[in-house]
Amino acid sequence: MGLKRICGWIIRKKAIGRVVIIEVSSDRVKPYVVVLKEEREPELYAVGKELDVGTALCFEGEEAQEQKSVRGIEYVARKIEVYAKPIEPLPVDTMGKVPALLDTRIKYRWLLVRNPVEKAIFRVRSAMLAAAREYLSSNGFTEVQTPKIVAAGAEGGATLFRVQYFENEAYLSQSPQLFKQMLMAGFTRVYEITPYFRAEKYNTTRHLNESWGIDVEQGFINSLEDVLNTLENLVAYIIDYVSRNNAEELEVLGVNLRKPSTPFKRLRFQEAVDILRSEGIEVSDTEDLSDQAEKKLGEIMAEKGHDLYFIVGFPWSSTGFYYMREENGVYTRKFDLDYRGLEIASGGQREHRYERLVEALREKGLNPASFDFYLEAFKYGMPPHGGFGLGVERLLMRMLGLENVREAILFVRDRVRLVP
Ligand code: ATP
Ligand code: MG
Repeated sequence: MGLKRICGWIIRKKAIGRVVIIEVSSDRVKPYVVVLKEEREPELYAVGKELDVGTALCFEGEEAQEQKSVRGIEYVARKIEVYAKPIEPLPVDTMGKVPALLDTRIKYRWLLVRNPVEKAIFRVRSAMLAAAREYLSSNGFTEVQTPKIVAAGAEGGATLFRVQYFENEAYLSQSPQLFKQMLMAGFTRVYEITPYFRAEKYNTTRHLNESWGIDVEQGFINSLEDVLNTLENLVAYIIDYVSRNNAEELEVLGVNLRKPSTPFKRLRFQEAVDILRSEGIEVSDTEDLSDQAEKKLGEIMAEKGHDLYFIVGFPWSSTGFYYMREENGVYTRKFDLDYRGLEIASGGQREHRYERLVEALREKGLNPASFDFYLEAFKYGMPPHGGFGLGVERLLMRMLGLENVREAILFVRDRVRLVP
């Protein structure tokens, strides 16, 4: 019967007769329930009775022999140390009984993480990244960091945030794409967990202006299949890891998560177009799928038992310059991974042949000279390679059934939010 010291915040206090019940939110999802009885611990009872919701405290105690609370683990306290009392009533309900509007949840996220549901989301996010690191490092990938202040974007100039960089103009990185590819000149497998900065005026439930990605690149590949294998195994590993390690979080969130079976279904882009057309949806042969088409395809695939599926072979007219083209010249080795109608990753095999890459830049109307730093890396033995960027918030959103990507990141950066 060891004493345990637990620190956290009061999220609920109830006095019934000569008993005070205090729920303390700490780092695990479910609160600790401290039961103070006047006849058992009169001094602590007197202290506890006066404490307000929002107080930061530590207590020492032991697990109660009889666990009566369904809300958390019950403790008998031996000592209470009060560290800070709230100077005003809390602006939000940290117990989570009164549902807050998304706007309020985002504004007070740092306070609402005391609430079990909110905390559970970010504990799963943390587990997701731990799982990704575990999977990738045990498969020989080296974790790298590439610059976030850059001179050129990966996709052209449209969606870049400008930064004044001494006497030059620079940008915030929208993707580590070019840098991770350059590293294929000396590593055979790298990954980076990185922010993406995108300056588009999004007005959707799945776009942020600052989002995070798990970016992977691998060299000496035999074909695109090598990349698809890495991604499907990574995603399956993450989902399995969370289902095994985060039972309490998933219970609080009411989520039933099971490891998806691999391999994921591979759908040719053209097949997807045909399926959608047969359902009366208008789709272009040369452009990326619209949101509506993506969603509809998700429903059709779900009916066939595929929550997760690849769309492979996007038309050259719809992709970045760095994707390798198929022999026909019309399609590329670019793919998306969709999870119930939502794109969660994009990737592909890259063009590693110098001459073809220069040609591709020109065809896309880009000036090869502005990509000199990148092109140089292709001069000295660049192996065939490919990789992907997997969206952290998008994956988390789908795993937990969240409706808005803003629920999956602690501090939101979008069109209207720059603070907190
Ligand atoms: P979309 O077409 O959905 O706008 P994208 O194709 O522009 O996304 P990519 O450049 O392919 O995005 O980025 C790789 C992954 O990173 C995406 O599949 C997605 O999961 C995530 N991602 C990209 N941009 C955003 C964003 N603005 N907000 C949230 N996640 C994003
Ligand atoms: Mg994409």
